[in-house]
Amino acid sequence: MRVDALHLQGWRNYGTQALTFDPSCNVIYGENAQGKTNLLEAIVYLSCGKSPRAHGDKELIGFDMQEAALLGDIFSRQREFVTDIRLFRGKRRKMTVNGVPAKNSAALSDVLHTVFFAPEDLFLIRAGAAERRRFMDLSLCQLRPRYAEALSQYNRLYEHKTRILRDSEDKPELLDLLPEFNEGLCRSGAVLIGYRARFCAALAEYARQAHYECSGEREELTLTYQTVRTVADPLGSQADIYAALAAHMESHQAAERASKLCLSGAHKDDIEVLVNERSARQFCSQGQVRTAALSLKLAEREIHKNAMGEYPVMLLDDVLSELDPRRQEYVLNRISGGQVFITCC
Ligand code: ATP
Ligand code: MG
Repeated sequence: MRVDALHLQGWRNYGTQALTFDPSCNVIYGENAQGKTNLLEAIVYLSCGKSPRAHGDKELIGFDMQEAALLGDIFSRQREFVTDIRLFRGKRRKMTVNGVPAKNSAALSDVLHTVFFAPEDLFLIRAGAAERRRFMDLSLCQLRPRYAEALSQYNRLYEHKTRILRDSEDKPELLDLLPEFNEGLCRSGAVLIGYRARFCAALAEYARQAHYECSGEREELTLTYQTVRTVADPLGSQADIYAALAAHMESHQAAERASKLCLSGAHKDDIEVLVNERSARQFCSQGQVRTAALSLKLAEREIHKNAMGEYPVMLLDDVLSELDPRRQEYVLNRISGGQVFITCC
């Protein structure tokens, strides 16, 4: 899939701007604050009806404008699409795909997928487990509806169980409800773990390759899915995972009641990231962290391609700074297949 042309009107700092793009690599360069990130943001919006950085649509409308228009000519699934998005101050947005009104952003995702990489994504490596779980969740929710279902069920049960534990001091009878919640958490948790394990296995393979090439064959990136300790084989059967989760929860029952916290379950999962066998989080340089985070996103792109049959559009915001010439050369010349946008100063 690719974006052939874009027409912006009143989008962020753009007045009226028409642009056409190359089907392979597009380098967008300019001074600080010229609108490079705003342009990539517009392409992300075309694919999911959401900005990766704005809190609401109003922020996207030019300061002095009442409305913004975003039109994309997109080629995907061997067909041409025109996606037309209008944002208004104080009125609902309007979106159409080939003239047909789009009720929600799913209609946009049917046409275009993007993978966006921004400097903030260094958190993927540097920050705690929550960021890496979010990465898995966002990607898997897009790819697997059954995962999204299990995740929302898990989150609901988790919140409820947390409340039960918290309120149990005043109302000890609430604890009688726990077995039911624990069972549900183990059941939906087993689904999450099965999907995450498969996702991480594919991610590890693709990311290792990308990182190895980008670093001039000098660095080995190792990703390992980490989940509840008793789960011996996260790629194993749902029944085995369920049993392992239940055993772990059972052994933590007293501790959970004492601490009033959910201590056992898939909500503590993580991906361990090593570069040359050492923790990337603790020991990697800025450039290495950037390479590792970029490799994760490139791997995500491959996984999307396997699921969709075509590469999503890859948007790389400001990746080149901090990379040495060899790594820059990789980003500019070696990311093959699919359309890529790269911004730099
Ligand atoms: P850098 O190289 O520093 O990352 P950039 O080219 O990516 O710069 P953008 O983030 O795209 O810059 O922002 C360009 C300008 O758009 C900024 O000066 C910003 O203040 C401005 N801007 C942001 N939102 C709006 C808006 N709603 N209306 C008008 N201008 C806006
Ligand atoms: Mg920018």
